[in-house]
Amino acid sequence: MTLATEPHTQLTARSTAATFTGLKCKECGAEYEAKAIHVCEECFGPLEVTYDYAHLSKVVTREKIERGPKSIWRYREFLPVETDHPIDVGTGFTPLLKANRLARRLGIKHLYIKNDAVNMPTLSFKDRVVSVALTRARELGFTTVSCASTGNLANSTAAIAAHAGLDCCVFIPADLEAGKVLGTLIYGPTVMAVQGNYDQVNRLCSEVANTHGWGFVNINLRPYYSEGSKTLGYEVIEQLGWQLPDHIVAPLASGSLFTKIYKGFQEFIQVGLVEGKAVRFSGAQAEGCSPIAKAFAEGRDFIAPVKPNTIAKSIAIGNPADGVYAVEIARKTNGNIASVTDAEIVEGIKLLAETEGIFTETAGGTTIAVLKKLAEAGKINPDETTVAYITGNGLKTQEAVQGYIGEPLTIEPKLDSFERALERAQTLDRLEWQQVLV
Ligand SMILES: *Cc1c(COP(=O)(O)O)cnc(C)c1O
Repeated sequence: MTLATEPHTQLTARSTAATFTGLKCKECGAEYEAKAIHVCEECFGPLEVTYDYAHLSKVVTREKIERGPKSIWRYREFLPVETDHPIDVGTGFTPLLKANRLARRLGIKHLYIKNDAVNMPTLSFKDRVVSVALTRARELGFTTVSCASTGNLANSTAAIAAHAGLDCCVFIPADLEAGKVLGTLIYGPTVMAVQGNYDQVNRLCSEVANTHGWGFVNINLRPYYSEGSKTLGYEVIEQLGWQLPDHIVAPLASGSLFTKIYKGFQEFIQVGLVEGKAVRFSGAQAEGCSPIAKAFAEGRDFIAPVKPNTIAKSIAIGNPADGVYAVEIARKTNGNIASVTDAEIVEGIKLLAETEGIFTETAGGTTIAVLKKLAEAGKINPDETTVAYITGNGLKTQEAVQGYIGEPLTIEPKLDSFERALERAQTLDRLEWQQVLV
């Protein structure tokens, strides 16, 4: 493989298929051309993609979307790419499952799970953001793509770069789960395992982005990348029969996905694809890395960075770039941001598996544990239509549950050995029930 070392020249020719108009600073409103930049030159605020919504409301209809591909690209007009041939590896349009058994356990009535544990190709919601970022990277003329990752992003970037024939170098913290490392290496990228936490990885990558001509999906391509998360909002609206839910619960790392679900809802209201109503936004963090939950609890509008220490590595960002915007959204929508312990996260993983047959990773365990905590505190109205976003797959973080899930019964290949083992199992079951009852 050849990793480019020359600063690349950006292509700026626009095609007529583009529906986005450029980049705009979220803080001061300064406008920029749609290049590989992510920070405002005036005030250092983050840049966001802008669209011509008047035009979109004329050209986009429910019927047109429904006729589109069964992937995120059915919403192409709302994504920041110019091509009619995006990188489509089947990302998106994951199941929205009515979770009746889990709802009953939590004492609520209308609960849905948005299941990105089975997203394609690498079993996390990150495939959405990377499909968009790499399509845009190709349009801007990048031949080498990269990322600073907590695990899932490295999996996605490596896999989708392989499919698109782009060279790839990813950066991860050296202490990641085995499944996340293997699930990156298999695609043959260059992998840099950095001896430090995610925030240190990210700082290093910002320097590399300045010196090498690489497209970092979550640094210099971040405005495009983050737009991919809006599809988590669009799909839920469409899957609820073109309606908004009343309440959503989603995990927070940088806070980006949370803010983009919000943007997705707002856009569909603005162009008339769905009738507007108030949706409450609640966020989930692990107590061992909860700078956003702390700012929310203390009523602050700045984030005090922390040093992460939790099993929920995929959401362990101590200095979250979009944290203040997440707090703002939770506050103004009358939602909450809460945190849970590592033990509660393991319980959350098991609860979702045992009630709904979905094996999620630690980020999903965090979301379910926070959902439970909010339900028990009366902060989820039992009548609200609530959607919990499950963003990753449990097979990638097996370390987290090892030792908490029992063991298989080893038997000889004989009927009586089976019968004896079954009796033992049933006795154990009865004992467990007796313990529950006392
Ligand atoms: C990255 C990640 C998140 C959080 O993403 P942000 O947009 O940075 O908040 C949530 N869940 C999983 C599984 C992730 O990999």
